[in-house]
Amino acid sequence: DLELRNLTKQFGEQTILQDISLHVPDGSFTILLGPSGCGKSTVLRIIAGLEPQTEGQVFIGDRLVDGLSPKDRDIAMVFQHYALYPHLTVRENLAFGLKMRGEPRRVIDPRIEEVAQLLEIHSLLDRKPKDLSGGQRQRVAMGRAIVRQPKLFLFDEPLSNLDAKLRSSMRIELKRLHQRLGATMIYVTHDQVEAMTLGDTIVVMEGGRIRQVDPPGRIYDTPADPFVAGFIGTPP
Ligand code: ATP
Ligand code: MG
Repeated sequence: DLELRNLTKQFGEQTILQDISLHVPDGSFTILLGPSGCGKSTVLRIIAGLEPQTEGQVFIGDRLVDGLSPKDRDIAMVFQHYALYPHLTVRENLAFGLKMRGEPRRVIDPRIEEVAQLLEIHSLLDRKPKDLSGGQRQRVAMGRAIVRQPKLFLFDEPLSNLDAKLRSSMRIELKRLHQRLGATMIYVTHDQVEAMTLGDTIVVMEGGRIRQVDPPGRIYDTPADPFVAGFIGTPP
């Protein structure tokens, strides 16, 4: 399980996160939902180890990971502006993490095939990132996370550059992938529809605080306060 205990984050004088505590069971598809600037990305960055918290602890599995570098946390991240290695082809970008782990080609090649099929990026495998569209890059970034098959995925609005059709097919693929890998996914979005269709648990944030943690149906039917009600769009 993933556990956040009383996280706070300050940038200078400004308090960005206040007393964030959250338990995410293994295998959950948890959505962080909230308006721009509420602190969603900061929570992910702290879990990933890209940003230190001011106070509180992060546990992944039963392990206190505070102070561990991102690569020692066995997580995969897909961020909105995820940089691919510009000098490597798509195929090499996908293979990179597995190579670093010392996997042999007979493991790497079929995995890349599978992921390329899944994300429909077969025809792009020999291109460099600069020769891809934004949406294609996003899919490759997604593929690079998936091939490593980590236990924990962190997604920060990974579908935001895709058109509506691709976005909806990617949602279906993500759900399928989630079931197949049995992985834990934490997914940041400010899109209510995306949250409702993807998540088994939704964490609603506002102003650096958690307002409600519940399954989609409960968030919708019994919002904890007027903010949640307004944000989800439940009629009064
Ligand atoms: P969005 O939906 O727009 O991506 P978010 O919920 O992901 O928003 P964060 O990126 O976590 O929001 O930012 C939360 C707050 O922290 C914002 O007010 C932002 O300006 C501030 N912030 C983020 N990073 C820094 C930083 N390095 N220095 C100072 N303030 C920061
Ligand atoms: Mg953000």
